[in-house]
Amino acid sequence: MDSEQFREFGKAAIDLIADYIDNIRKRDVLPSVEPGYLVDVMPENAPEKPEDWKDIIQDFNQMILPGVTHWHSPRFHAFYPTGSSYASIVGNILADGLGVIGFSWMSSPACTELEVVTMNWLGKLLGLPEEFLNCSPGRGGGVIQGSASEATLVGLLVAKDKIVRKLLQDHPSLDDGDIKKKLVAYTSDQCNSSVEKAGLLGAMKMRLLKSDSEGRLRGEMLKKAFDEDIAMGLIPCYVIANLGTTGTCAFDPLYELGPICNEYDVWLHVDAAYAGTAFICPEYRHLMKGVELADSFDFNPHKWMNVNFDCSAMWVKDGHDLIKAFDVQRIYLDDIKTETKIPDYRHWQMPLGRRFRALKLWTVLRIYGAEGLRSHIRNHISLAQHFARLVRTDDRFLVEPEPSMGLVCFRFKQGDNVTKTLLERLTKKKNVYMVAGSYRGRYVIRFVVCSRLTNKDDIEFSWNKIKEEANLISSEEIH
Ligand code: PLP
Repeated sequence: MDSEQFREFGKAAIDLIADYIDNIRKRDVLPSVEPGYLVDVMPENAPEKPEDWKDIIQDFNQMILPGVTHWHSPRFHAFYPTGSSYASIVGNILADGLGVIGFSWMSSPACTELEVVTMNWLGKLLGLPEEFLNCSPGRGGGVIQGSASEATLVGLLVAKDKIVRKLLQDHPSLDDGDIKKKLVAYTSDQCNSSVEKAGLLGAMKMRLLKSDSEGRLRGEMLKKAFDEDIAMGLIPCYVIANLGTTGTCAFDPLYELGPICNEYDVWLHVDAAYAGTAFICPEYRHLMKGVELADSFDFNPHKWMNVNFDCSAMWVKDGHDLIKAFDVQRIYLDDIKTETKIPDYRHWQMPLGRRFRALKLWTVLRIYGAEGLRSHIRNHISLAQHFARLVRTDDRFLVEPEPSMGLVCFRFKQGDNVTKTLLERLTKKKNVYMVAGSYRGRYVIRFVVCSRLTNKDDIEFSWNKIKEEANLISSEEIH
């Protein structure tokens, strides 16, 4: 393919995406295909001869699109949002066009420095304490990880390395392996699956502590767990606090957890994967009160901030902790030594290679501006409140807990079976998509405002579909 063909192929792909988004409401959210639909019709081997790009576009329309779940449909209300915007797509195209790998400053100075700049911008927009920012006098800084899962695991590995180093320094006769066996991580029973997985991958026991009736991990519970473990000869090492749990979007009180972690010298990581974007709006910052006591903080612009996957923004108070844990030298990685605070990002992450992710963050921050992002968040929250009001007009339903951010959980008062049947039947019909959760032991349906395209009419469309199905179920008297 030469550059002329690339222009044509690229323009055709851009037109296709723009048409797809413009017409997305005409499609059901969920595809009508059976498992194996694509595997059965695709050729068994890669083509021997070069093919025409026009055939690829045709196959994309005929074979790929029918098997797609439309995450950006305004009637997609499952999980949490995944970001997408024209600004971000263009940022990704530019990054792919350059195709650089920025593991050190010299491997592509702009890749590293734009990440430093955009992470400073973003940290300031969120109102993070300045110790987390590269532009502050200390050793703090931000890095773009691939996912919140990776950020949680990076935090765990660094916390582990830090405590092992300290104990070996204080007690040189101790054995590194013996210390590692005794380390314990803590989070709440409401944590995302990725948090529990970080314990598996990082080979550290992870205790899922009981949350309170509102789904929050409280200080008292954490302190009790630390004391129990210390009495058994174990060593508390790492705590993951959740700001915006996946189930009900509950917020752990950092102002309770932080002082305890600091007192016991335990690394505190904050997982604000979804809800972190809301801190761009000052009226939600009270939900991160105590964040200055954390060691690391992570949220996903690739969730609610209109940045395409993958872009997880992580800040740490002390970048040297990461470098000590992850620095492996090779002669071919020798780089220019500077006195500046510009990081060699390969020491801040798990892989060696890294893409130019800061470009899409930069294009989104510039095209929307802080104002545009704030109004996106406020709009989603007010649409969620509108949905909750609609549900409350129907006395067969209960909204609980109180809606949080763009999430509304609701259920039939009649019982879990009916609620479950409602969700199953709606999913089969494919025109709205939600998933289940649980609150105080009850089965609830989670309704999330996800797409940046969603408006009031879409919310009413989804509610009417839910009501129609509820009417059918009520007439069947399912218990
Ligand atoms: N943490 C929370 C609270 C989440 O809701 C999610 C995903 O929804 C994650 C972590 C995992 O995010 P990622 O897919 O970026 O690893």
